[in-house]
Amino acid sequence: MTESPVPPARPGRRRTLRNAADIEAAGLAAGDRIADIAAVASRYAVAITPTIADLIDPADPADPVARQFVPDARELVAATGERTDPIGDDVHSPLPGIVHRYPDRVLLTPILHCPVYCRFCFRREKVGGDEAMLSPDRMAAAIAYIRDHEDVWEVVITGGDPLMLPAARLAALLQELDAIDHVKVVRLHSRIPVSDPDRVDAAMLAALDIETALFVAIHCNHPRELAPAAATAIRRLTKAGIPLLSQTVLLKGVNDTPAVMEELMRALVALRIKPYYLHHPDLAPGTGHFRSGIARGQALMRHLRGRVSGLCQPHYVLDIPGGHGKAPIGPVYLENGHVIDWQGNRHHYPPDD
Ligand code: SF4
Repeated sequence: MTESPVPPARPGRRRTLRNAADIEAAGLAAGDRIADIAAVASRYAVAITPTIADLIDPADPADPVARQFVPDARELVAATGERTDPIGDDVHSPLPGIVHRYPDRVLLTPILHCPVYCRFCFRREKVGGDEAMLSPDRMAAAIAYIRDHEDVWEVVITGGDPLMLPAARLAALLQELDAIDHVKVVRLHSRIPVSDPDRVDAAMLAALDIETALFVAIHCNHPRELAPAAATAIRRLTKAGIPLLSQTVLLKGVNDTPAVMEELMRALVALRIKPYYLHHPDLAPGTGHFRSGIARGQALMRHLRGRVSGLCQPHYVLDIPGGHGKAPIGPVYLENGHVIDWQGNRHHYPPDD
């Protein structure tokens, strides 16, 4: 493994693209799309970091990275069934910053800003607005809620992107959770390692250094996102002893082919990231052009099962609209007294044995 020394501080940085003019100036969209991009940007947050912009081939109209981050006019057209709170966070939120859907875990959302804004985001109505961080009072109330609920075994810190928190705030939050005896696991979900890898610096690693088992789940949808700078940031996390998971969203035109999904899962594992979730895209407003159908997702999972190591198999899941939690929706391998092998052949197996 190559050495990846931790930088003492973030180097001088190019600007994140935040509007239609920025995207046009960077050459990431043709002039005839700029008015549409501006219309979308007036409705939903836009951010494309220099790291992500550098991954886009502007000459490719179907570029899988551009598709995830450059706004599209179709975002302003909500389809039947799409909803502003697609996974039902609100009905399970007893107070700001907390979603308590399952007995043994809570979501904590300390910040609603992200390094990039994904065009398919399931929390697109909430992220990127003026209200960025939980106020100190609200944060204290959220921590108190966790402290008071002894069934909470795991705290999933999400957002937004929790690694956007200034290192001192992140450290203070994690220290508070570390001091709660019944919290045995802290899991942070982040897009930072692939989209703004220089942020994974010594201060962040120091903040993440707590006694409680801490996992980082990295959101990554295309193998191109695992570029050298991202790989370096990921190595810093693994060298710090942090177990890494991935979450991927199944996205039409981005990763919904066997070749791309296989390459992505292999690349994640090669960087010591265990694929955790393959999410079926949620019914967020204006995201229909990203959905390819559950049958296609199941076919991709069958392909993975037949082609790659068990280490590379994510759980294919769907968040049930209305807040009923996740359901695994992968292919079934046992039916009517038969078990199906990795090549698709059926074999009799006694149902009671
Ligand atoms: S990083 Fe996550 S929360 Fe932020 S825009 Fe992307 S999907 Fe949404």
